Amino acid sequence: MAIARDLATLRREVAALRRRAGSVALVPTMGALHPGHLSLIALARQAAGAVVASIFVNPLQFGPAEDLSRYPRDEAGDLAALRDAGCDLAWLPTPEAMYPPGSATTVEVAGLSDPWEGVQRPGHFRGVATVCAKLFLQTGADVAVFGEKDWQQLAVIRRMVRDLDLPIRILPGPTVREADGLAMSSRNRFLSPAERAAAALLPATLQELAAGLRSGAPAAPRIGAAEARLRQGGLLPDYLALIEGETLQPLEAAPGDGSARLLVAARLGTVRLLDNLAV
Ligand code: AMP
Repeated sequence: MAIARDLATLRREVAALRRRAGSVALVPTMGALHPGHLSLIALARQAAGAVVASIFVNPLQFGPAEDLSRYPRDEAGDLAALRDAGCDLAWLPTPEAMYPPGSATTVEVAGLSDPWEGVQRPGHFRGVATVCAKLFLQTGADVAVFGEKDWQQLAVIRRMVRDLDLPIRILPGPTVREADGLAMSSRNRFLSPAERAAAALLPATLQELAAGLRSGAPAAPRIGAAEARLRQGGLLPDYLALIEGETLQPLEAAPGDGSARLLVAARLGTVRLLDNLAV
C-alpha cells in the first residue's frame, strides 16, 4: 500500500493506480478505523479496480466547542488495518496541505444541511461538503463509498454531487453494528463500561419504534414514548424523528414503501450517539 501525504504524491500515485487498475474508488474517513470503515473498503474493492482511503480529521467540520483535539488518532493501527483490508493507497493530508493559508472557498448544501445535525452542529455540513468536494477533486475517484450510519451526511453529499455535476458515483454501505446492535463508531471508545451497556438501548428503541411505525401508525405519540424510554435509560435525545429519507423532511406517518427513516442523536455522558433505521 502506498502512502501519500502531499497532493503531488497523491496525484502521481492515483495516476499510476488508474493506469494499472482502470478505475478508482475512494473511502473518506477520519481514522480510528473499526470494522464499519473496513466494510466500506470491501465495498470499494468490489466497485473499482483500485481503492484509495483518506484519513483526515477535518477541522472545518468541528465547531469551536467540539472534540477536535480529543478525536481519537491511531495512524499506525489505521495503516495496518487498511493494508490488511486490501487498500491500495492511503491519503493522509496535513491540515496545511488540505487548507493552505488563505483558503477561502467552501461548499454549502442549503436546506439539507440545516435540520437535525445541522441544528446541533452549525456549520458542520459546510465542513463535510467542502472536504468531500476537495477529496473527490484531489483523487479524481470514479466512485466514493459512504456509510449509511451518517444518513444526513450521505444525503448532503449526494445532493452536492448532483448539484455540482461532480463526475463521481456515491455508493452507500450498510451500518455495521456490535453484537448488541450499537452502531460502530470511533467515539464509542469514550463510553465507560456502564455507558456502553446503556448504549444498547438506542438501537433497541429504534428497532421497536420502526416495527410500530411500519403499519402507518401516527408517529408523534410513539416517538414521544420512545424518547421517554431513552431518558429513563440515561440517554438524552437531541432529536428522534421520522423523516423522508432523501429530503430529510419530517413525516407524520410512514408511507409503507420503505422511503421513511428514523433518525436519532442522543447524548450519553460526553458522547453523542447517532443512528438511523429504515421504516
Ligand atoms: P468517520 O471516520 O466517522 O468520518 O466515518 C467515515 C465513513 O465511515 C463515513 O462514510 C461513515 O458513515 C462510515 N461509517 C462510520 N461508522 C460506520 C458503521 N458503523 N458502519 C458503516 N459505515 C460507517
